[in-house]
Amino acid sequence: MANQTGAIVQQSLNALMGDSSFLPQIQDQRREQVFQSLAAILSTPNKVHKAFLRIALDNGNVERIPAFRIQHNDALGPYKGGIRFHESVNEDEVTNLAALMTLKNALHEVPFGGGKGGVVVNPRSYSEKELYSICKKYVQYFSDVLGPDKDIPAPDMGTGDREMDWMMAEYKSINPGSPYLGSFTGKSIVSGGSLGRREATGKGVYFTFRYMMHDFLNENIGWLSGSTNIFAETALAYKDKPLSLAVQGFGNVGSVTAMEAYKCTALRGKVVAVSDRNVTLYNEEGLDIPSLVEYAATHRGDLPSTDGELHEIGVSAAVLDREDVLYLNVDVLFLAALEDQIRGDNVGQINARMIVEGANAPITGDADEALASSGAIIIPDILANAGGVIVSYFEWLQGRETQFYTEEEVYKQLFAKMQKTMNGILPAYFGDPLSLRQNCFVHAVTKLSTVLYRQGKLY
Ligand code: NAD
Repeated sequence: MANQTGAIVQQSLNALMGDSSFLPQIQDQRREQVFQSLAAILSTPNKVHKAFLRIALDNGNVERIPAFRIQHNDALGPYKGGIRFHESVNEDEVTNLAALMTLKNALHEVPFGGGKGGVVVNPRSYSEKELYSICKKYVQYFSDVLGPDKDIPAPDMGTGDREMDWMMAEYKSINPGSPYLGSFTGKSIVSGGSLGRREATGKGVYFTFRYMMHDFLNENIGWLSGSTNIFAETALAYKDKPLSLAVQGFGNVGSVTAMEAYKCTALRGKVVAVSDRNVTLYNEEGLDIPSLVEYAATHRGDLPSTDGELHEIGVSAAVLDREDVLYLNVDVLFLAALEDQIRGDNVGQINARMIVEGANAPITGDADEALASSGAIIIPDILANAGGVIVSYFEWLQGRETQFYTEEEVYKQLFAKMQKTMNGILPAYFGDPLSLRQNCFVHAVTKLSTVLYRQGKLY
C-alpha cells in the first residue's frame, strides 16, 4: 500500500489501540497481536492477479499488454472497484486504489470489499476494434476471479459504459445462465445500468462540499460558532460570501462536479476555471459550463484549447497551461483528474483554502501535511468521491432484482447515504484535533477491525 494510505491506516490503528472502549476484553500482549494482525491485513492485498493480454492490432501485429486485477479485502462483501485504462497504470497504483476502495466502502457502509483493475494502455492510441478486444481479453484472463458474488468491476479513468457493456457481454458468454447483470456496474442503461450512475461521482463530490459548507453548517451554526475547528472557522468565514471555484479534470467526475457547482443556488459560487489533459480555461466572471460540457461531449471529452475554438462556441475564457488550474487564486479547488497532483514540490504554490478530492489520492502525504499546517481544509477522496460506488451498489441490487429505480429515486438514496455518513463523522470531527481525512480513516478502520474480529480473522 502506498505511503499516504498506509501511513494513515497505521495512525488509525494506533488511535484505536489506545482507545480503551474498542475491544476492551482484549488486553496486553494479546491486544498487540490483534493490532499487528490488523495492520498486516489492511496493508496488503488478499490477491494480486496479473496478466499480459494478447491483442491482435489492426495492422496485423500482436501486442502483449500488462493488466491487473487486485483484490484487497473482502471482509465486508465481494470485491468492488473500477478498471482504469491509462498508460501510467502500475501494480503499486492499482494496489493503493484497491485499498482505498476497501476503506471507502467501509466508511459509507456499502456491503462490498475493495478491489481495482488496470490496463497499461492509452485508450486514445487504439481503435474501437482493438479496445473491444482488450476488454474481452481482460474478462477472459480474469474470468475465474470475477463475478457478481466475487468481484464486480466498474469504470474508472479511460473506461466508461461502452467498456462495461463489452465486458459484461463477455462474462455472460463465458458463464452462460449466470446472473450476469450484477457482474459489472457502470453499464449503459439499455444493458441494465442504473440511471444516474454516470453522474453519481461528480454529483456526490459537489453534494459533499455543499452539505458541509451550507446545510450542516446552517443546521449547527449555534455550537459551530464557538468551535476552534479549522473547517468550522473557514466555513463560517466564507458563509454568505461569493466563492470562486476551480475544477481540475473535465471527464466523468470533473465535468459533472463543475455543472453541479454552476447550477447550485444554495451557495454563491462561480466556476472560474476548468482544466483537462491539454489546457486550463479561466474567466474570473465565471465560465459558461453548459457550453463547455456540450463541446466536450462531441470532442472526445476534450475542452476547447484555442481562442478560435472558444470563439466558435461563444465562450469567453483565457487559455492557460494545463497545470495552472492548481495555482489560481481561488477559494475552492476540486481535484478530479489524477493521483499526485499536489506534491511536496508544488504545494507552496497552492492558493485555494478549500480542496475537495474528486480524484483518488490527488494529494501526496507530505503535501497533505503541509496544507493542513497552512490552515487549508481538505475534503478527502474516501468521503467525497464515493457516489460512484454507492450507485454501483444500487445498480448491482437492481440487476439482482431486475427491477429498476427512477433517476429521482437513485439521487435521493445516494444523497441520503452520503449525508448519513457525514452525520456520523462531522460532529466528532468538529470537536477533534484530527483532520477530516484522519477522522474518515479511523471510522472506516474501526468498522473493518470490528468485522474482522467478529469473523475470527485476527489471530
Ligand atoms: P475521465 O477519464 O473521465 O476524466 C479524466 C480527466 O482528467 C479528463 O478531463 C482528462 O483530460 C484529465 N486529465 C488526464 N490526464 C491529465 C493530466 N495529466 N493533467 C490534468 N488533467 C488530466 O476519468 P474520471 O472517471 O472522471 O476519473 C477522474 C478521477 O476520479 C480518477 O482519479 C478516478 O479514479 C476518480 N474516480 C472516478 C470515479 C468514477 O465513477 N468515474 C469514481 C471515484 C473516483
